Amino acid sequence: MTSASPILLWLRRDLRLHDAPALADACASGRPVIPVFIRDALTDGLGAAPKWRLGRGLEVFSHLLEAKDSRLILRSGPPQEALQALAEETGATDVYWTRAYDPASVERDTGVKAGLKDAGIGARSFAGALLFEPWEVQTKDGGPYRVYSPFWKAVKGREVAPPCAAPKRIAAPKAWPESERLTDWAMGAEMRRGAAVLARHVEVGEAAARGRFERFLDERLESYKADRDAPAADGTSGMSAFLATGEIGPRTLWHGAMRAWHEGNAGAETYLKELVWREFAWHLAWHTPRILDRNWREEWDAFSWSEDEDRPEVLAWKQGRTGIPLVDAGMRELQVTGTMHNRVRMIVASYLTKHLMTHWRIGQRWFEEHLVDWDPASNAMGWQWVAGSGPDAAPYFRIFNPETQREKFDPKERYLHRWIAEGQGSPPETALAYYEAIPKGWNLSPGDAYPEPVVSLPDGRARALAAYEERRS
Ligand code: FAD
Repeated sequence: MTSASPILLWLRRDLRLHDAPALADACASGRPVIPVFIRDALTDGLGAAPKWRLGRGLEVFSHLLEAKDSRLILRSGPPQEALQALAEETGATDVYWTRAYDPASVERDTGVKAGLKDAGIGARSFAGALLFEPWEVQTKDGGPYRVYSPFWKAVKGREVAPPCAAPKRIAAPKAWPESERLTDWAMGAEMRRGAAVLARHVEVGEAAARGRFERFLDERLESYKADRDAPAADGTSGMSAFLATGEIGPRTLWHGAMRAWHEGNAGAETYLKELVWREFAWHLAWHTPRILDRNWREEWDAFSWSEDEDRPEVLAWKQGRTGIPLVDAGMRELQVTGTMHNRVRMIVASYLTKHLMTHWRIGQRWFEEHLVDWDPASNAMGWQWVAGSGPDAAPYFRIFNPETQREKFDPKERYLHRWIAEGQGSPPETALAYYEAIPKGWNLSPGDAYPEPVVSLPDGRARALAAYEERRS
């Protein structure tokens, strides 16, 4: 190894310059750094919206690198082969990356690390995607946490490394290797006409993330505790999609909110707790990966959820045509923006798994396809929390009543007005955009009558409770 041999920086979900330990270490070495993204089977397997969002993130990040006289090299194929080929072409002797924690990435990365070492290439993985490595937080008995509150108590006083600064310079190699072209990857192809609609609503890139977070700290954190549950208010930080692509790091958010907490900001503790829900989700996914696709509580395997995705009421749920306005508004927000307010996520999930007695996995897959902030751990935990089959879950018999929730959290119906066109003389752009985003084959138009409920709320609730009682007995 020579001290001037390049380092390959294998980027995955860390498309940022600040708060990026792998990049910072590579730059601090003084050696040339070659940033590379590899489109592998995991990239190809992403849902339509998260894949589109990742493609947009790669485009913006490549411009950030260019502004630093660097480049983003794109390659396709199995990462081990792609990295080894790049090492041969460039004389690179080390590969650095930021750790990922889902089982498929862990398996891939473990194999790549061993393979590179066998080939005489150094491989180093770094923290940075989470505040706490999942194996570092342990109960007194040395096991993982299963309940959120003690997890929060265990981590809230811990030291979190401060975010590292963006490198002043990223040294370039003597010659750049060939790169594939992002446009040839067509990462938005599966979004079809929905991509143009999403593009109007989705912000992308590190600068946008940092700007939005600064504004949130200055203008909205103080009232976060009160406003975070109102779907029509712009009361939350909107960081989830940036976190999912790694355009902002959790340490930046933690330290920003921590500073505000020490200054007596009333919303800061609540915000830190929400960030820790994300950590808890990854803690669970790391220690009990079955949470990602199976009932965490096995006794729920016997529950009579329907797994028939072709039922008309499931289609109505997907289309936002259940006849329950708050549920429908949320499902339409998802089509237009690729996100959904957290409270409404809970309501649509409860409605699907309880009033419609449908397996949470059907909803989980729909979200996986449509969320630009898709995060496997938070999505699985969210669904299982609502369905009742997860750790620390809401009890099944606690069934959200979408009507009462609307009265409480959207009393002036601003959220409904924003998303439901039917019945409005001149619907807003947001409500109309839904018709541009959805598949043409759904044959829906704003002139349609608003549907009657596919199941009445009392009937749906009674049916769900009866099934629950049957399972218990
Ligand atoms: P803020 O309120 O500003 O919170 C700040 C950050 O804290 C979020 O960006 C997120 O990283 C974290 N956070 C907040 N609430 C939660 C939570 N309940 N669980 C885990 N982390 C949380 N979040 C995702 O990022 N990706 C998903 O795929 C996802 N799927 C979900 C599915 C269901 C059924 C439910 C009920 C929740 C899901 N969530 C998911 C959690 C939550 O809805 C979003 O994180 C939140 O709406 C993002 O908006 P925000 O960034 O403005 O949040």
